[in-house]
Amino acid sequence: MAEAPLSPGSTIGILGGGQLGRMLAIAAARLGLRCHIFADAAEAPAFDVAATHTLATFDDQAALEDFARAVDVATFEFENIPVQALQRVAEIAPAYPGPKALELTQDRLIEKDFLRAHGIPVAPYQAVNSPQELERALERIGVPALLKTRRLGYDGKGQVKIENGSASAAISGELAGQQLLLESFVRFERELSVVLVRDRSGEMRCYDVAENVHKNQILVETRVPALISAATAASAQKMAEQIAVGLDIVGVVCVEFFDCGVDAATPLMVNEIAPRVHNSGHWTIDGCLVSQFENHVRAVAGWPLGSTERHSDAVMTNLIGDDAERWCDALGDPQTALHLYGKHESRRGRKMGHVTRILPKKAS
Ligand code: AMP
Repeated sequence: MAEAPLSPGSTIGILGGGQLGRMLAIAAARLGLRCHIFADAAEAPAFDVAATHTLATFDDQAALEDFARAVDVATFEFENIPVQALQRVAEIAPAYPGPKALELTQDRLIEKDFLRAHGIPVAPYQAVNSPQELERALERIGVPALLKTRRLGYDGKGQVKIENGSASAAISGELAGQQLLLESFVRFERELSVVLVRDRSGEMRCYDVAENVHKNQILVETRVPALISAATAASAQKMAEQIAVGLDIVGVVCVEFFDCGVDAATPLMVNEIAPRVHNSGHWTIDGCLVSQFENHVRAVAGWPLGSTERHSDAVMTNLIGDDAERWCDALGDPQTALHLYGKHESRRGRKMGHVTRILPKKAS
């Protein structure tokens, strides 16, 4: 039975306390909703802006149960939280998206099998659990290829590129002893993403397709509109909708694509699904009336979705590591919005904030 919509003043519980949780809590506060963050790090960026928080590990059953009893609905902001934690919470409080979507997207192999079963193109891949299986997979898939951990990988962690001859080193090095996946290296023209929101009744709305630039596997820049045809945009959005329905998502989901060009045998392939708000949707805070964060909050609260229309063109740049020292530069530009995540310690590769430059809207 569908849960009743939350009343203003209700509490949304968020598992995970990073910058995504922080921006969700800010959006919720603007709507008169409270957030209760559950995180395992004392300096979680979301703690600063939430009404309440729990500092505990994700296997602390008593803490999870107390958290679930204290909230009106639960969600998550990080897909590497143990699925058992969300399951325990979901036994006590409504949880969106549910544990099934989280479980499926935590494992690259299961995720790709799901995509293939839905007729959605992905790069050729094969599971690899031993050096012998790696040799066989390389014969089928060829080089260059990427060897990835099936679980717990993000921002390029747990990935090794295999060129000629480096195969045995790859499997005996940092990836030793883990369940792996070999994936063909895709020579794409550009990377795209679709951020979509789906409400409890199944209504869906897509934001405009974004074009993403990664460096060392970390997102550095998102541009909207993407320089693609209307047909490519429609095709990406249709696949994202199919995925959201297949996973029964309530809230925001992001689907990342490789755009190999219209002349390629497979013009669009899905790289990855994130069943949560996403870095490539940060531009929506300044480029749309209703951001991905607000729409996620609305969806999990059972409220009507907001417009996903873009009022401006946008270029979002992540402030990674030392980049954040230049935060003051952004304040001198009247077209640029600065977002800092309140992280105390800057580390190489760590996302410290982002800036979004807003430009008058051109047709997409
Ligand atoms: P992932 O963690 O799988 O999302 O990978 C992060 C980034 O690495 C992607 O956004 C791409 O830039 C790059 N990448 C991942 N998989 C592939 C692939 N099969 N071929 C080429 N580049 C890839």
